[in-house]
Amino acid sequence: MNKFVFSFSESGSLTVDSIKKITDFENLYDNKNNNILKSLLGGKGFYLANMTNMGLPIPAGFTITTQACQDYYKNNKTLSSEILSEIKENIIKLEHVSNKKFVSPDQDSKDIMPLLVSVRSGAKISMPGMMDTILNLGLNDNSAQKLVNITKNKEFVWDTYARFIQMFSSIVKNVPKSEFIKIESNDYDFLTKSKIYKKIYEKFTNTSFPENPYEQLHEAVKAIFDSWHNPRAKFYRKMNKITEDGGTAVNVQMMVFGNMGDDSGTGVAFSRNPITGEKKIFGEYLINAQGEDVVAGIRTPEPIGKLQLKMPDIYAKFEDITQKLESEYHDMQDMEFTIENKKLFMLQTRSGKRSAQAAIKIAVDLVRENKITKQEAIMRIKPEQIDFFMHSGFDQETLENLKPISKGLAASPGAAVGRVVFNASEAKQWVANGEKVILVRQETSPEDIEGMQTAEGILTARGGMTSHAAVVARGMGRCCVVGCEQINIANDCFYVDNTKISKGDVISIDGSTGNIYSGSIKTSYNKISPEFNIFMGWVDMYKKLTVYANADSSIDIKKALELGAEGVGLCRTEHMFFKKNRINIIRKMIISDTKKDRQDALDELFMFQKEDFIKMFLEIKNLPLVIRLLDPPLHEFLPESNELQAEISRDLHISLRDLKTKISQLHEVNPMMGHRGCRLFISYPEIAEMQVKAIITAALEVQNILKNIEIIPEIMIPLVGNIKEIKFIKNIINNTANIIINNKKLKYKIGTMIELPRAVIIADKLAEESDFFSFGTNDLTQMTFGFSRDDASKFLKNYYENNIYDSDPFEHIDESGVGELISLGSKLGKQQKSSLKIGVCGEHGGDPISIKFFDKLNLDYISCSPFRIPVAKLAAAQANINRSKV
Ligand code: PEP
Ligand code: MG
Repeated sequence: MNKFVFSFSESGSLTVDSIKKITDFENLYDNKNNNILKSLLGGKGFYLANMTNMGLPIPAGFTITTQACQDYYKNNKTLSSEILSEIKENIIKLEHVSNKKFVSPDQDSKDIMPLLVSVRSGAKISMPGMMDTILNLGLNDNSAQKLVNITKNKEFVWDTYARFIQMFSSIVKNVPKSEFIKIESNDYDFLTKSKIYKKIYEKFTNTSFPENPYEQLHEAVKAIFDSWHNPRAKFYRKMNKITEDGGTAVNVQMMVFGNMGDDSGTGVAFSRNPITGEKKIFGEYLINAQGEDVVAGIRTPEPIGKLQLKMPDIYAKFEDITQKLESEYHDMQDMEFTIENKKLFMLQTRSGKRSAQAAIKIAVDLVRENKITKQEAIMRIKPEQIDFFMHSGFDQETLENLKPISKGLAASPGAAVGRVVFNASEAKQWVANGEKVILVRQETSPEDIEGMQTAEGILTARGGMTSHAAVVARGMGRCCVVGCEQINIANDCFYVDNTKISKGDVISIDGSTGNIYSGSIKTSYNKISPEFNIFMGWVDMYKKLTVYANADSSIDIKKALELGAEGVGLCRTEHMFFKKNRINIIRKMIISDTKKDRQDALDELFMFQKEDFIKMFLEIKNLPLVIRLLDPPLHEFLPESNELQAEISRDLHISLRDLKTKISQLHEVNPMMGHRGCRLFISYPEIAEMQVKAIITAALEVQNILKNIEIIPEIMIPLVGNIKEIKFIKNIINNTANIIINNKKLKYKIGTMIELPRAVIIADKLAEESDFFSFGTNDLTQMTFGFSRDDASKFLKNYYENNIYDSDPFEHIDESGVGELISLGSKLGKQQKSSLKIGVCGEHGGDPISIKFFDKLNLDYISCSPFRIPVAKLAAAQANINRSKV
């Protein structure tokens, strides 16, 4: 029984049961059958074995497992004798099954059909284009000559041989592909041509090109194992949070040739449209070509629909296989196929990458077709895909008056505006300097991945809908237009007819239509499809956390409700003071020397706040509206620059000197730990009085208008750290509110923000005085770490480099520190008062990773910006579904 290498040449040869017999592996994997096989064989190997077992036409072959890859690394990058002998045994088996032979340089039997193989990587989680593939392995001058004798097709043999030398040289020895300038078929005989190519190899490596097929295979397997650690694969794993330790499997398969002439070809297709989700095969193919030609975008392929016209039998067979695969895997498939002399072979299948629109449509359709459950549909959508719907497309009205300068293929939807750059490192550099860029390339390759990630959008001159640029951009949710053949890329510029666009010029690209525009275009939000609403309905059914919005105006509330908010968890009232007609009034209030002057300014502010609150209550109706009293240090409202100070002194009729004195009096060394939050009301109770008066008056007025529903304002006190603070401020709130309410009917609630470690420690006491708690995790993180939330990013990158922290604690909640405080605070609070409502309103409330944690803590709600609402809801539903599975 083999340990490292398994054949999938015959139906039923590689199954869960056959693997289970190998006791060595039993304890290494969890007991979900597919996971055992996928971890061991990699995704590609798993599907090849599976498709063989389904009786589909798969070229015979074998998989060298991820275990072998791990063994290779353990043995200082050498293939153990055990692995070598298992490879040999499987090649012999393959020779037998295929009736072909590995031909050594000196083998002379005339009528042997040479065995050529493809050698492909395949990790457990698919990493498209990140690792390496070598095709046509097994060729040397001897086997090539035999192939010519048998096929009588010199052109085909040289094409195949040339590809092999190039691929082998570049992948195994890093010889640049560009060194191999194309030699036309009839210039020389192929032995001369192969000598020219092999000389290039020798020049770069100082060794001769390996002629023995076994030696070629061993080198190729090692190179593919090594490619697990190439920079682009590492970057991809980091970006997709894939662990480093899995390793890749290697699949060795008998070659089938798409480059044998006009009855041959190769293609890539999806079982449904990966852009729109439409249930119709979508893909491309090339006649007389090998696989990489389609993906690399070297030739622009034909749409798959044409295959139906040109080879109807093959197409019908392919369609049938497509349906079988979808039924087997319950998902849209991304497939590679080759036609060799009118015979169809499947080379690969996997779950297809898709745009956000397609992901939603396909998930909803699969539920409708009874292929998956609603929970499965929810688990299939990534929160970022939902986020896509919250992003922009170009403003339609603006577009109507604009003429595109060119048009390419609409490969990945969305709208992007940015300065043109022509390579990935420029893209990274410019973005680091604060620019937005569009990466323009002839075609992209895996080396460009970091540049693609940082760019707003990607535009290529060549390549089709399944080219590298298209597939990768779609997976990233990045706007992308490909195959824009009209553009002519020159040195640091490109031309479209007579228009010249230079590096640094701004262009706008539309990934939904393929249009390219010169200059910047206003963007507006993407349309939400009917499927999106159906899907979000299911999300609502399966989530437990309530999702509120952080909203500071009636306009924000309207948007938040449209996006599914279940209330407002945080209205930051200071934002209402920054508006143009109010800022000077609050400044007047701040610089006033007497209580009377301060009160006059507050009376003016009261009118504005009341009007705002009326509009907000009218919008939110009977859903919760949590209004936080003023929070920031007062000096934030005062001007910093001399020019602005001079202007303000004129406007407010105060001498510049007096104004400067006031500003310096308010100056604090550590304002975020200073005179802010509830501390302001200890010094200036009249500010809290004004705000409460505005809230209660507005609520009463709206209650009068909306008679049938009950308005219950929720007033929240920021930055509490002491029970006496809350008692002091509650007194102000209650006294002010009671005078206004008098004998009318209005309930209100008072809540506490938990933003200080001290507040957590005394949470039971604070609960006695509170109707609700809201964890302000921005400040709680700041105050727990002692990191300034405004400056920490400057040095946190050094922490990531040194593996001290994995991620920014202001982005993903620090579970073991701040998270423990939230857990303790909520426990103490609920123990004291079981009716206490507890939520989070810091930025973490919109972060899927943090939401998972909040769901586990059994909090009542999260609150986030309006455009994060659907994302937060999906994350909450996924967390809850996952939790109920355990
Ligand atoms: C918080 O600190 O988490 C919070 C929501 O308040 P702000 O961000 O306004 O300080
Ligand atoms: Mg705060």
